[in-house]
Amino acid sequence: MVVYKGKGVYAAAAIGRASVFKRHTAPVSRVSIGDIAAELARLEAAKALATEQLTEIRDKALKEAGEENAEIFGIHIMMLDDEDYNDSITGMIETQKVNAEYAVAAVSDKFAEMFANMEDEYMRARSADIRDISDRLIACLTDSGGTDDVTAEKTVICADDLAPSEIVSLGKDRVLALVTAFGSLNSHTAILARSMNIPAVIGVGEEFLGSIADGDMLAVSGHTGEVFLSPDEATVKRLSVKLEEDARRKKLLRELKGRENVTLDGTTIGICANIDGAESIGDVLENDADGIGLFRSEFLYLGSEALPTEEQQFSAYRKVLEGMAGRRVIIRTLDIGADKQIDHFKLDKEENPALGLRAIRICLTRPEIFRTQLRALYRASAFGRLGIMFPMITSVSEVEQCLAVCDEVKKELDGEDVRYGGHTEIGIMIETPAAAVISDKLAPLVDFFSVGTNDLTQYTLACDRQNDKLGAFADPHHEAVLRLIEMSVRNAHANNTRIGICGELAADLTLTETFLRMGIDELSVSPPYVLPLRERVRSIDLRCPENAG
Ligand code: PEP
Ligand code: MG
Repeated sequence: MVVYKGKGVYAAAAIGRASVFKRHTAPVSRVSIGDIAAELARLEAAKALATEQLTEIRDKALKEAGEENAEIFGIHIMMLDDEDYNDSITGMIETQKVNAEYAVAAVSDKFAEMFANMEDEYMRARSADIRDISDRLIACLTDSGGTDDVTAEKTVICADDLAPSEIVSLGKDRVLALVTAFGSLNSHTAILARSMNIPAVIGVGEEFLGSIADGDMLAVSGHTGEVFLSPDEATVKRLSVKLEEDARRKKLLRELKGRENVTLDGTTIGICANIDGAESIGDVLENDADGIGLFRSEFLYLGSEALPTEEQQFSAYRKVLEGMAGRRVIIRTLDIGADKQIDHFKLDKEENPALGLRAIRICLTRPEIFRTQLRALYRASAFGRLGIMFPMITSVSEVEQCLAVCDEVKKELDGEDVRYGGHTEIGIMIETPAAAVISDKLAPLVDFFSVGTNDLTQYTLACDRQNDKLGAFADPHHEAVLRLIEMSVRNAHANNTRIGICGELAADLTLTETFLRMGIDELSVSPPYVLPLRERVRSIDLRCPENAG
């Protein structure tokens, strides 16, 4: 047994087989197959198709680009037929009973790495060729459709790091746990793992990736941040007890369903949930949240190949509003840039993306995208209680511009006789120090504030939230961050503006009392944290002197 230590992102345990994440053009999942012969036949058919495609390309290159340039495709055809390469793929299908796509991707990674480490320059260059033919083979397999005889296998996904879009494409039903070599606690990857209820440990170090192979047994403890490779019997037993404890605690928390979020002295607070898509509504209701305090709408854009149309967005927003049946839903307008990149947006590469063109800055410079989203939001507002929230605000003028576009969109809908809700609340995120400092000027313009502590911490302390090496420097309990929140609460309330917190700090139970004493009206957290937060709120007595924790 080997133990790796990282940071636990979501406190839950898991025991299962490893699946090393393959970064191919199309996401490749590990799937257990029942009929090996059928899978080998699929592979053969895909190989024949790939060879046919390459032959055509070679002939075309021969005609149009000459013999020398066509040669590489001849090499690709030979590589596709290479005995070692093929034996490794079929061997993996036969011994591990996995789908052909996964076997090709795994073998491709292994061979590509082997070539990349060779002395000879010519051989080193073959690494890219291996990836190239493998991607083609995977595409041919995907085009031919998957085998029917499959059981989705939940595995522990092991990766260097994962982009938010990669987690989304993996899908919750395939992931037993996540382990990454790098990554930081406030990254969107960590946030997604939390909101998807996935036990996760990040930052276990590079050597982990060198030692892990597909199918290895792993035990993961999101409580302690430990990952056990080939766990011994005692460890499996210990973690199994933890698994049972987690389930028992969940059951206990369910007893809090239907109870109020009220302190011992009678102060009521809203506890809402953060979501990334309509598919989380079940979790939100299951955990009895008062509403949705943050719907990160950018995940609609991250999950699709092209810009989502007005109709697609309308139907997603409507589904969330109808699903929440009259409870308030705050949908944040597109917040991409920084760590949330979308290929089809073709954003320029920036030296400092977190300080660059992101969120509202993109919306205000690409009004057609902003208008489409606002049209969809207003149309959906007829089906529930909607709040629209703008991210990354730093100035009064930005808010005024947003409000002006909202007015234009509403006029446009009026002109088309399209129905929208009577009163859609407008809010902004307080996630830059600038917004907190001028919150007295911003509060009269909007109905609510929501403090984004992830970005507020990053920008106040000059600590990149993606950088896992900053440790104690990135202290979200830093007095400067807390003072900015307190100042925003004061300014909000002086203007009858509601204020909540939707950053990860909202789930930090050691700060709940501090936030309540400041006068925060609402906390919005990942669905699994709603009931633990209710439990904490119900234990606080604001009449007594502060005793956080
Ligand atoms: C935040 O910054 O705290 C926040 C809630 O927004 P995001 O994490 O999506 O940047
Ligand atoms: Mg933010």
